[in-house]
Amino acid sequence: MNRCLACHGTYYDQPGWRRLLMIEQLSQICQTCESKLVLISGRRCIKCSRSLDQLSQTYRKGEQCLDCWRWDQQGEILEKNLSIYEYNAFLKEWLATFKFRGDAIIASFFTNKLANMYEKHFQGYVPVPMPLSNERLLARGFNQSSLLMKGWADAIDSLVRTEGEKQSKKNRKQRIRQFKQNPFSFKSESDVKGKNMVLIDDIYTTGTTVRQAARVLQEHGATKVASLTIAR
Ligand SMILES: [Zn+2]
Ligand SMILES: [Zn+2]
Repeated sequence: MNRCLACHGTYYDQPGWRRLLMIEQLSQICQTCESKLVLISGRRCIKCSRSLDQLSQTYRKGEQCLDCWRWDQQGEILEKNLSIYEYNAFLKEWLATFKFRGDAIIASFFTNKLANMYEKHFQGYVPVPMPLSNERLLARGFNQSSLLMKGWADAIDSLVRTEGEKQSKKNRKQRIRQFKQNPFSFKSESDVKGKNMVLIDDIYTTGTTVRQAARVLQEHGATKVASLTIAR
């Protein structure tokens, strides 16, 4: 009998032959929770992974979503974002538990999945965790991005975050204004010249934060900067 990492209920693993042959890892979550995790599939925005099938025509521009098209108009910095799951209500709550209540074991559910994506799509890229500000780090006790890299990448910090993490309450105009006051700065001892980098984070929401971080890396010589996130 196992205990589900998401709902904490008990469950039995389904003894499929793939599990018996150890091709698949033990599930870590119950079938009910697993069914609530929705892999992004079908047509996606070529830039940010957002599912285009669920997006109304007015929010699409060819193979891109409207947001990415707008970033293009401003001079795009980010190569692309790849995400694994749809950011639905279930994952939202689960990731909130992971981040704010310090449930670090949950990270272990995602590390393998991120490692697979990295192997497949980001060969040769240097993985970089999205930094937290010192205040946030003190309050939380860990950086979720670094935890998500455990076991498959060395979390080498190239960036420092100096302020404000609250993005969600701002409207688009305020976010663009804030985009110009970049909260990230470069760690002087790191060297990113001529390298391709991939920023690791849990969620891609507006794409503002990840682009601010990307800009700093590019200003210090990084060639391409992309991002890899659990949810979009
Ligand atoms: Zn469950
Ligand atoms: Zn997009």
